[in-house]
Amino acid sequence: MSSEVLRDIVDKVNAAPDLTTALGIAVTEVKAVMAVDVCSVYLRDFERDEFVLTATDGLRPEAVGKVRIRSDQGLVGVVAERSEPVNLEEATGHPRYLFLAETGEQRFHGFLGVPILRHRRVIGVLVVRQAAIRRFNEDEVDLLMTLAWRLADAIGHVETLSEVIALREEPTGGSKPLFGLGGAPGVAIGKAMVVYPPADLDAVPDRAPNHVGEEIAGFERVVRTVRDEVAALGRDVGSRLGDEERALFDAYAAMVSSDSLVGGTIERIRDGQWAPGALRDTVREHVAAFEAISDPYLRERASDVRDLGRLLLTHLQAGDVGIRHYPKRTVLVGDEITAMQLAQVPADQCVGVISAHGSGFSHVAILCRAMGIPAVMGVEDLPAGQLEGSEVIVDGYAGRVYVSPSAAIRAEFDELAREEAELSEELARDRLAPSTTTDGVHVPVCINAGLQAEAVSLVDSGAEGIGLYRTEFPFLVRDRFPGEEEQVRLYRQVLANSHPAPVTLRTLDVGGDKVLPYLPINEANPFLGWRGVRVTLDHPDIFMIQLRAMLRANAGLGNLEVMFPMISGVSELDQCLKLLARARAELVEEYGAVEPYRVGVMIEVPSAVYAVERLAQRVDFVSVGTNDLTQYLLAVDRNNERVAELYDHLHPAVLSAIEAIVTGAHKHGVPVSVCGEMAEDPVAVLMLVGLGVDKLSVSGASVARIKHVVRKVSRQDAVDLLDEMLLQDDALTIRFLLTGAIEDLGLGGLVRAGR
Ligand code: PEP
Ligand code: MG
Repeated sequence: MSSEVLRDIVDKVNAAPDLTTALGIAVTEVKAVMAVDVCSVYLRDFERDEFVLTATDGLRPEAVGKVRIRSDQGLVGVVAERSEPVNLEEATGHPRYLFLAETGEQRFHGFLGVPILRHRRVIGVLVVRQAAIRRFNEDEVDLLMTLAWRLADAIGHVETLSEVIALREEPTGGSKPLFGLGGAPGVAIGKAMVVYPPADLDAVPDRAPNHVGEEIAGFERVVRTVRDEVAALGRDVGSRLGDEERALFDAYAAMVSSDSLVGGTIERIRDGQWAPGALRDTVREHVAAFEAISDPYLRERASDVRDLGRLLLTHLQAGDVGIRHYPKRTVLVGDEITAMQLAQVPADQCVGVISAHGSGFSHVAILCRAMGIPAVMGVEDLPAGQLEGSEVIVDGYAGRVYVSPSAAIRAEFDELAREEAELSEELARDRLAPSTTTDGVHVPVCINAGLQAEAVSLVDSGAEGIGLYRTEFPFLVRDRFPGEEEQVRLYRQVLANSHPAPVTLRTLDVGGDKVLPYLPINEANPFLGWRGVRVTLDHPDIFMIQLRAMLRANAGLGNLEVMFPMISGVSELDQCLKLLARARAELVEEYGAVEPYRVGVMIEVPSAVYAVERLAQRVDFVSVGTNDLTQYLLAVDRNNERVAELYDHLHPAVLSAIEAIVTGAHKHGVPVSVCGEMAEDPVAVLMLVGLGVDKLSVSGASVARIKHVVRKVSRQDAVDLLDEMLLQDDALTIRFLLTGAIEDLGLGGLVRAGR
C-alpha cells in the first residue's frame, strides 16, 4: 500500500466539513482501496460500555446508530480489550465471532480490526471484512492503523456517541471545530478580538459602535479630509496634465461626499454598525451595483468606489489606533495575524492566536511559542469577521478552534486546561535539573531569543545558554538600521545577562518573510532570493557595523559565539570569515585587544549539507536550522498552509540530512546543535538524541519540557528507535510510531492536550 494512497485518504478525511462526513469518506475509501466487502467504524458509548455502528460501507445504512455491541462481546470487543489489531484469516473459528443478521451482513471470514485510540483509551474500532478467507498483509494492517490514528485525531474531543449524533443533527453547532494547524502548543479559552490588515475592507469585522453620535461625527470628519485630499490631488494633477484628468478627480471628490456613500454609511451606523463596518457594507453595495451595469465605462467605476472605500478606511483606522481595549483573556483572530499585532496586546492579556493563513513555522507562530501562547494557524474557513467578542477555544496541539463551544466541550477543555496547568507546574519545578539521558549523556538545552520580551534570566529558565539570538528582531522593530553604538549596547546586555553561559548571536537574517520596513525587498520568490548572508555580504557597510558591535559587546566577557545564516557553500562562509577577521583587526588596532569568541555556521541550505566537512573545518561549531533545511529539502514553503501537510521535519530525508551533518562535523571534532523548531518537538527530540546532536536550542517556553524529554530517554534506546525510523518511508508513519513511543515513555501530555 503506497503512502500516496494513505495521504490521499487522509487529505479527503481532513477536508471533510464534519465528523460524520469524515467517517463516511474513510469507510468508503478504505473499502475501495483494500478491495474488501465491508468497512465500518464503531464508536464507543462510554456510558453503556457498548460499541455503536457509526459509519459503514457494506452493511445496511439503516443499521447505523442502531447496532450496538457490548464491549465484552464480538471481535470488536476483542480489538478493544487488546488495544491492538486483530487480524483473522478465518474469523468464524474464533470463539468471539458474532453474526448480526440485522446489519444485513453476509457471513464473513477475513477480519481485520484496529483500535481507535485517544489518550490510551479505545474510543472506537475500525473494521474491514471479507466474505472470503483472507489474510491481510502487513502493509494493509499499517494502513488501517495509521488511518485509525488520523481518525482519532478527527474525532478529537467528541468522545461519546451522543455527541456524534448531536453533530449530525446540528452541523453548525458549537461542538463542531474549525480545523487548522497547530501553531503553538497548549489550550486556551478566551474572547475573540478580530484584527485586520489596514485598508482591507473585506477584513473589517462586524462591531457595534461605542457611541453612535461620535461614530457619525468621526466618519464625517474623515469624509471631509478625504474629499479635500482628493480635490487637492485633482488640482495638482490638473496643473500638470490638464482639465480632463482634473475632472476625474472632481468626480472622485463628488463621489466621496455623495449622499449615497456618506448617507448610506451613516444610516448603517445608526442601525448599530461601527463606521468601518458600515463603510464596508455601503462600498460593497455600490460595487455590486456598478458591476451589474453592462456599459464597460460605468462598470469600471466599481474599482473607483473600492479605492475610495479603502482611502476612507485608512483614515478611519488612523483615528482608531490606540483605542482598542483588549479583553482580559484575548484571543487574537484574523486573516493573517502579524508579529506587530501580537506585540500590541499587553503581554498578560493575550491567551491565544487564531490565524486564517500561515503555518506552525510562520514567524508569528514562533513568537507564540516563545511567549507560551497557544496558536492555531491556517484555519482556512475562519469566519473572522463574525467572531468579534465570541468565546473561542484554541487547541494548539490538534490545531482546532471551537467557536461558542457547547457546555460539554467547554467543560472538557476547562478540565484539559487545568491538567495542562498542573503539568506545566510540574515541569517548571524540575526545570533546573540537568538534561542528561538515563544513560548519562548530557545534552544541554539552550534558548532561542531575539525579543525584548525574552530578556529572561537563564538561571531562572533552566537553559544553559542562548543557542540562537535572532538579531533581526531589533532591526525589524525600528524604523532604521540601528547604529554600531546602539547594537553594542543591545548585544552587551544579552551577553552580560547570560554570562558566563555562551550566547550565539546570529548575524542579520532578513529577506524571506522577514522584511525590514526600511529595506523593502520585492521578489517573486523571496525564500530563494536575497536573504541571510546574501544581503549582508552585498552590504558590507551594514555587516561590518554588526560584526564590530558583536565583538565589542564581548569585551571583558568572552561568551560570544558569532553565527552566519543561510550559508550555501564554502566561498560564502570564507567571505563572512574574512569580514569578521577584518572587524577583529580593526578593533585590535582601536582598542588593543579583542576577547576570544567562537564562530559557527548554520546548516540550513541543502548544498551546505554536502559541504559540511569543509565548512566544519573552518568553524568551531555548526548549528542546524531545521526550519529552513526542511523547507528547502522538501521544497515546501514553510509559511504556506496549503502545503503545510507536506512540511514535516520528521521526513526521512531531513533525518538523513542531519545524520550526514552530525557524521561530517564530528569527524572533525566539531559539535552540532539544532536550533530550528524541530528541537522543541518532543517526538523529534527522541530522534535528535539518537542522531547524536550535542545541543538543542528552543524557545523559552519549551526549555523545561524538552529537558524533561531528554531526561526520560536513554541514548541507546533513542539510537535503536532512530534505526527503526530510518527504515520508514514517510514522515506520517514516523510521526505515528514516535507518538506511540512518547506515550510509552509517559510523555503523551507533551504532544496533546491533557496529561
Ligand atoms: C531555521 O531556519 O531553522 C532557523 C533557526 O532560522 P529562522 O527560523 O530564523 O529562519
Ligand atoms: Mg533559518
